[in-house]
Amino acid sequence: MLEVAHLTCGYGDIVAVDDLSFSVEAGEIFGLIGANGAGKTATIMALAGLLPVRAGAVRVAGRDVTAMPAHKRAGQGIALVPEGRRVFAELTVGENLTVGGTRLDAAALERNRAKVFETFPRLAGRARQLAGSLSGGEQQMLAIGRAMMAEPSILLIDEMSLGLMPTAVDECYRVLSRLREEDLAIVLVEQGTERVLDAADRVGVLETGRLAWTGTRAEAAGNSAVVEAYLGVDKG
Ligand code: ATP
Repeated sequence: MLEVAHLTCGYGDIVAVDDLSFSVEAGEIFGLIGANGAGKTATIMALAGLLPVRAGAVRVAGRDVTAMPAHKRAGQGIALVPEGRRVFAELTVGENLTVGGTRLDAAALERNRAKVFETFPRLAGRARQLAGSLSGGEQQMLAIGRAMMAEPSILLIDEMSLGLMPTAVDECYRVLSRLREEDLAIVLVEQGTERVLDAADRVGVLETGRLAWTGTRAEAAGNSAVVEAYLGVDKG
């Protein structure tokens, strides 16, 4: 579904991601982990079309989207859940969802909104509540729900767990498993390893912009010392 081939991107003189290649099938979660500054966010931004690709290619279901701007990529099925949720604080929950489904007709909007509320019962009944007044966990649920409004085939999620209560993290991970069953291809970026190693089908470890290690969840579990060494985790 998603193919990343020799992706290189950066900021000014900084090469944030260097010759990165991986692919994600429909119904699969690819967990991308790495230490601070490893290039995780840059990867997600380049896939979403928000950071220019300097070399390499991004393909969706075989179609080259590398030269497409972000809004065109959204039309190809790529949806982004950005770091820090970025919900529209001054809009209501319902309005945030409407923004996520701007290209839909009224019937599809209604259908998808109902599905989001069914997926996240904590958001149901809060359609008129301002998004800025939600808890961090609820805002993350709303950010995922907003992305789902566009009926994507590929979901990019940056730092889903950051700053959330463990129960909210659990709920978000439960939803990801469900979305995988619905055949989404999911790229999940996290700084912490534990949850990713539980949830992802395959894992990639980024180290200063390069893919230092990649393997299945089972291989990552068997190699956790290696994975943690790349992340600079010292368990003493
Ligand atoms: P973190 O978990 O801290 O967000 P990350 O793995 O997501 O880390 P990136 O944010 O992708 O890392 O950063 C990759 C590299 O690009 C780092 O060297 C970082 O300093 C640099 N970088 C990130 N954003 C910018 C920017 N706006 N301008 C210049 N350099 C940047």
